[in-house]
Amino acid sequence: DPRLQHISQSIRVIPHFPKNGIMFQDITTLLLDHKAFKDTVDIFVDRYRDMHISVVAGIEARGFVFGSAVALGIGAKFVPLRKPRKLPGEVFFEKYSLEYGTDCLEMHVGAVQPGERAIVIDDLVATGGTLSAGIKLLERAKAEVVECACVIGVPEVKVMTQLL
Ligand code: 5GP
Repeated sequence: DPRLQHISQSIRVIPHFPKNGIMFQDITTLLLDHKAFKDTVDIFVDRYRDMHISVVAGIEARGFVFGSAVALGIGAKFVPLRKPRKLPGEVFFEKYSLEYGTDCLEMHVGAVQPGERAIVIDDLVATGGTLSAGIKLLERAKAEVVECACVIGVPEVKVMTQLL
């Protein structure tokens, strides 16, 4: 797809953020570039528009940006999967492990009905732990997770090697 190169070039890479040795993929520069942002959303919308998806779940916070745009584009509802103690109503929660320690995602009970077809969207997948927690939350509500979608998939470039 000829659009991918421009999208890729619009993502800024910041070495040693948030800590030494991490090559941080900064999607805020993609959002500053209208064509790159629109092409990114269009690629997802083209993929999911005819798949009878009624739920787009976005992972806090960058998954909200892409996920809500995709939900509008395909005519689905948007469901935020949030960090703990942000959602005011009753929640399902799912803990997951990070490199150091654990984190947790929450989803409102009642946001998704049993049998609904869902996708989960985030900006980046590294180990897949965050997306797995998102999938489990939707499955807790008896939704069917059809697919996950990310802008960036870079396990191999997350850690800077001695060569870099
Ligand atoms: P995983 O759970 O797959 O190991 O990590 C993915 C999560 O960490 C995503 O929610 C993503 O937003 C965040 N993340 C990890 N590294 C980066 C990065 O370099 N850039 C951005 N934008 N997000 C990152």
